[in-house]
Amino acid sequence: MTHKANIVVIGTGGTIAGQGKAASNTSAYLCSVLGIDEILATIDPRSLAVDLRAEQLLQTGSENFGNEQLLAIGRRVAVLLAQDDVDGVVIAHGTDTIEETAYFLHLTLKSAKPVVVVGSMRPPSAMSSDAALNLYDAIAVAAHPASVGLGTLVVANDEIHTARDVTKGNSFKVEAFRSPYGPLGYVIEGRPRYYRHPCRAHTLATPWSAGTLASLPQVDIVQAYGALEAETVNALAARANGLIFAGTGNGNVPAHLIEPLRDAARRGVHVVRASRTGSGIVLHNGAQPDDLYDWLSVDDQVPSKARILLMLALTQSRDVQTLQAVFERY
Ligand code: ASP
Repeated sequence: MTHKANIVVIGTGGTIAGQGKAASNTSAYLCSVLGIDEILATIDPRSLAVDLRAEQLLQTGSENFGNEQLLAIGRRVAVLLAQDDVDGVVIAHGTDTIEETAYFLHLTLKSAKPVVVVGSMRPPSAMSSDAALNLYDAIAVAAHPASVGLGTLVVANDEIHTARDVTKGNSFKVEAFRSPYGPLGYVIEGRPRYYRHPCRAHTLATPWSAGTLASLPQVDIVQAYGALEAETVNALAARANGLIFAGTGNGNVPAHLIEPLRDAARRGVHVVRASRTGSGIVLHNGAQPDDLYDWLSVDDQVPSKARILLMLALTQSRDVQTLQAVFERY
């Protein structure tokens, strides 16, 4: 008999657990209604040679996920991965902040076992829902030996993305997830096919452990526009340990905000230049003399995930050069 992979599927809510009044409700429906057992009942995993176990960890839209929820998911997945009778974990999750949770797990889980975060853009009750197939594909990916050692993956719309790169780039379409350098592979007929591997450090090669992290420092994001006032920046900087400044274009900072942001850095707030464009590199010392101002820059990371990375980095160091090296490594 062939070995069946033991996969734990964790429910946390989201559209994949949603329900509309009619099948035509593809965008107007209640989120986080179905339990994980009910969602799993919509698929037939017999063709996948897996043994499934389900547990409900949370039941809420991912727009509500703060650091507490990230830590709770990380802790639970870390415990499961340490068990000999668990080969992989699937997390059914809202799509709004799937990229943040997935990246957090990618950076903090101390295991090579596959972890797949999955959501859907349409609830199971809708016409042409992507919920059942995405979940089926996610289980197939988590159970496959080719997924071992790749870090946390996000599966949606027949594609397998690395947690480092993926972002939600559309508010309603099934084709909502993008990685700037493309997905790692596809899932077809319950089998993953990989065409590339993540090259930045993750899971076993990071210093952070989801199992032991007790809290995360305050890091906020502010998005630039010409009329953004210094008072807004100052208010955020007054309470934060780090501030991701999502500048226009290649991380540009309006002239009237340079001094407020330099002041923040002088007071020990770690200011990070990012871009509000959604992709591309913010070159260190490019548009601004970052080293002169003790500012950091994100390399190619988007603001939402730069926030995750900076929170983790700040649990270990406050040194500007060390922190900048983190943005180049992960
Ligand atoms: N608001 C939902 C969530 O992120 C949307 C979704 O799941 O697609 O939880």
